[in-house]
Amino acid sequence: MTDKEKQQLLQQLLEKQKTDKLKPTDRYKIPPQDMPEQNPVTRRSNVNEVATGYTETQARLEAMRCLQCKKAPCINGCPVRIKIRDFISAIADGHYKKALDIIKENSLLPAVCGRVCPQEVQCQQTCTVGLKFKDPTKAVSIGRLERFVADFDQNVGSIPAVAAETGMKVAVIGSGPGGIVTAADLRRAGHDVTIFEAFHKTGGVMVYGIPEFRIPKAIVQKEIDILAKMGVKIICNFIVGRTRTIEQLLKKDGFDAAYIGVGAGLPRFMGIEGESLIGVYSANEYLTRANLMKAYDFGSGADTPIALSRKVAVMGGGNVAMDSARTALRLGAEKVYLVYRRTEMEMPARIEEIHHAQEEGIEFHILQSPKRIIGDQNSRVIAIECLKYRLGEPDDSGRRRPIPIEGSEFRIDVDTCIIAIGNIANPLIRQTTPGLNFNKWGNIVVDEETMATSVQGVYAGGDIVSGAATVILAMGQGRIAAAAINQYLEKKKKK
Ligand SMILES: Cc1cc2nc3c(=O)[nH]c(=O)nc-3n(C[C@H](O)[C@H](O)[C@H](O)COP(=O)(O)OP(=O)(O)OC[C@H]3O[C@@H](n4cnc5c(N)ncnc54)[C@H](O)[C@@H]3O)c2cc1C
Ligand code: SF4
Repeated sequence: MTDKEKQQLLQQLLEKQKTDKLKPTDRYKIPPQDMPEQNPVTRRSNVNEVATGYTETQARLEAMRCLQCKKAPCINGCPVRIKIRDFISAIADGHYKKALDIIKENSLLPAVCGRVCPQEVQCQQTCTVGLKFKDPTKAVSIGRLERFVADFDQNVGSIPAVAAETGMKVAVIGSGPGGIVTAADLRRAGHDVTIFEAFHKTGGVMVYGIPEFRIPKAIVQKEIDILAKMGVKIICNFIVGRTRTIEQLLKKDGFDAAYIGVGAGLPRFMGIEGESLIGVYSANEYLTRANLMKAYDFGSGADTPIALSRKVAVMGGGNVAMDSARTALRLGAEKVYLVYRRTEMEMPARIEEIHHAQEEGIEFHILQSPKRIIGDQNSRVIAIECLKYRLGEPDDSGRRRPIPIEGSEFRIDVDTCIIAIGNIANPLIRQTTPGLNFNKWGNIVVDEETMATSVQGVYAGGDIVSGAATVILAMGQGRIAAAAINQYLEKKKKK
């Protein structure tokens, strides 16, 4: 459909609505609106956002596909229970500010969540329209609509009101999505809030991990600016557990409570020969160099440049692997191979990211995994030796177990390897915080109703509790923790 045809269709539907309510049959006939995107050939060599966002006409047409279901099953699929039906109805009526206000009742970072939430396995999975067509890709595009209203007027993001000062001090450790929403909710209640961030820049994985072509960093910075305008203090280059411990913050520095939102930033390696060769990176290091240290910006003389690669192998099948592979392409690699032990069906990455990676020319090597990484006499990577795999019975994760095929060794010539098989919790907080309980994977144990830890006044949420998870889960847990901290401080003040 051309833009003109879309506009005509919207006018017809609006006319019809004046005299007659749109029936489900009318709504089913509205074609699902595709997301406009940069074309794959162009975007391979720039870091601009891949998806460029709905036009107003597209957003209203997409919103009109929503049946306004009485029970709105989509809401149960949303981890923070956004009033999806209501915000979509506001978009259909052209009331974008109202739509944004409805979303913000439950989610403080709609521009981020609209871009990176895995809606296809959350709200959109349960959408009645997708079920009617027996095709989840034909569900109402809730995430794209969320992004549309968040982007529609960049100046709409007003500064939330802050209650009278309570005189209580809270330390928020880590400035990822969990830390940001916790700090905002605590400051709104009038507490004196300080965010301590280990890096020189705030935003957590949204800034150092997820590339610019998926979340423009200016969007995250805008949220941080709002926090600062609300009066939240932000201290960077401050590693809790090294610069000061949690115990010192609480017992010596006058903090009444603390929220730990330090994420799961310790990369896992494969434990194979050759992982310490020159040219082998963890995805964390690679993405941090590219995003946070702007290694992609060759012309401006970035502080931490990255060696140019010609042939890159990325090991893994999640979002982190897709981001690494697509970043390598943008950093100038001629060939990028994605090596994964199972099949595309089992890949944990979002379908959209897999699709984008394939469109951009990433070569998928499925049912393969490296046995060793081979180096030259100067300890530089020159190849990987892989084994072929087949799938057996499902394992504990429910996915079919990959079984190596003996004698199937073969070699792929590469000069760079990026290991993207997952992250775990950094042990620093565990090593420096007596009395804090952890599970066997090194994640903090909390009461899920309040996110309270085993140490009084200390709360935690996000990846340090759940293991590597999602932005929206970190945000949801941050909000629960902030509500519980507010109650804790109220009681503490009365004592
Ligand atoms: C490459 C990549 C792609 C991803 N893609 C998606 C996606 O598409 N969709 C999605 O929903 N999720 C995605 N995720 C996961 C998502 O980003 C995380 O689940 C989420 O960011 C976790 O938020 P958090 O608040 O727990 O902490 P994080 O975002 O991990 O931030 C923690 C912050 O704490 C700081 N910190 C750590 N230790 C200390 C310390 N001792 N003292 C002070 N500060 C400290 C860190 O520097 C960091 O800034 C992705 C993750 C990665 C790595
Ligand atoms: S389930 Fe789908 S159609 Fe029904 S209210 Fe939610 S978004 Fe609209």
